[in-house]
Amino acid sequence: VPARSVSARVAPLGSRLVLVLVEDRTRERRVEAVRRDFVANVSHELKTPVGAIRLLSEAVADAADDPEAVKRFSARMLLESERLGQLVQQIIELSRLQGDDPLEAPQPVEVDRVIELAVDTSAIDADAKRIAVVTSGARGLRVLGNTDQVAAAVSNLVANAVSYSEPDSTVLVTTKATDDMVEISVVDQGIGIPNEEIERIFERFYRVDPARHRSTGGTGLGLSIVKHVAATHGGEVRVWSVEGQGSTFTLTLPATVSDPAVSDPVNQEE
Ligand code: ADP
Repeated sequence: VPARSVSARVAPLGSRLVLVLVEDRTRERRVEAVRRDFVANVSHELKTPVGAIRLLSEAVADAADDPEAVKRFSARMLLESERLGQLVQQIIELSRLQGDDPLEAPQPVEVDRVIELAVDTSAIDADAKRIAVVTSGARGLRVLGNTDQVAAAVSNLVANAVSYSEPDSTVLVTTKATDDMVEISVVDQGIGIPNEEIERIFERFYRVDPARHRSTGGTGLGLSIVKHVAATHGGEVRVWSVEGQGSTFTLTLPATVSDPAVSDPVNQEE
């Protein structure tokens, strides 16, 4: 964080009157530093799949008379290009979120729908590992915010739970209403996160063990999207984890104040 930076502009208004404008540019500079850092990281992360695709396409050309090798290289090319697509999509998502601070025109978001969407999205990966994704808890809850953003956050948490779990395990998505908040928890029985890494997992592009996770195809952006969504909604995301036993991520978001059951006396009598 740069030292506080102040700039002053002097505007002459007449022969004697002078207006001095002092503005604090600290935040502006910090935002600029974060942006530069982000662009540097993005370029670095994009280079890996792009480089791999180039090498693989050269390998395909060289192996023209070896159909088995062509098949193998093409399959890897498809994986790398899918990874590239996911990366680009998450970068767009994240940069859109960074400009949305705080949220404009929040609307009621149906939590059940968002969870259903997240479970559907991860169904193929979950089925491939015979992981049961189970939902429980309060139904019919609504939070105040942006459906696409909340859906992106919950989908990222469920996708991670599936990615970092062993086959034949269970992922639980559970909901709870507290005073004026809604908690959505995703509980897995997966590999867990080492204590000393837990602070860092919400950083952009941070992965606990990139070599080990290469097969999961992660981008390292999922949790920074979740953290941003929590922040723009005036909520938070917390994590508990025991290495080798599993993790619980809890996203807490403000509930709608205009819930008919609470504010509408006619509905209350029903
Ligand atoms: P990625 O695309 O790599 O999953 P994320 O930002 O979503 O990126 O997560 C950052 C890192 O946090 C992951 O690479 C992984 O090491 C760790 N992580 C996230 N969720 C879990 C989980 N449910 N269990 C174990 N580790 C996790």
